[in-house]
Amino acid sequence: MQLRAVRARLATDPVVRAAITAYVALGANLGDAQATIRWAVDAIMGLPSCALGPCSSLYSTAPVDSSGPDYINAVVEISTTLCAPDLLAQLHRLEQQAGRVRPYRNAPRTLDLDILLYGSAQVHSPTLTIPHPRMMERAFVLVPLAEIAPGLVPAAQLLVVAGQSCQRL
Ligand code: AMP
Repeated sequence: MQLRAVRARLATDPVVRAAITAYVALGANLGDAQATIRWAVDAIMGLPSCALGPCSSLYSTAPVDSSGPDYINAVVEISTTLCAPDLLAQLHRLEQQAGRVRPYRNAPRTLDLDILLYGSAQVHSPTLTIPHPRMMERAFVLVPLAEIAPGLVPAAQLLVVAGQSCQRL
């Protein structure tokens, strides 16, 4: 089996594993978005088999591929022994608790939680793609990610997204 296939298998197989460092993007633009993001950071900290690492500042950003009011965004680092699909299931549960509905694709949302990175894994399944496929095109992801993990964001890529509105609160 190729190394890439082994990494993908390890990322998706729910076996006992060493803790993996993962990055989760948070976004909200309906309701009290700042309060929801702060609630979600606390809720992620309380997830089973997850420990919260550094958390970025909150950012106010214009919708990209979406609509409605400006978004509040942040990125957190976690250390987790959950496999990537189980982590996604836990994040979806938090989205539900925050009242997330999906009336249509890219609709405004009370809470959106995406897995950006899961260690060095590359996952391509019908329900999960890691690294997140659009993370490198979005200032609302790259700017907070660079704040807590500057080594993961090439400076040249930050320049590419510099035209997108992204204001640190
Ligand atoms: P969203 O509308 O952003 O909540 O995402 C819709 C779907 O994207 C989810 O139901 C996931 O199955 C899928 N998805 C694929 N890759 C990812 C990822 N890296 N993080 C979160 N969701 C993902």
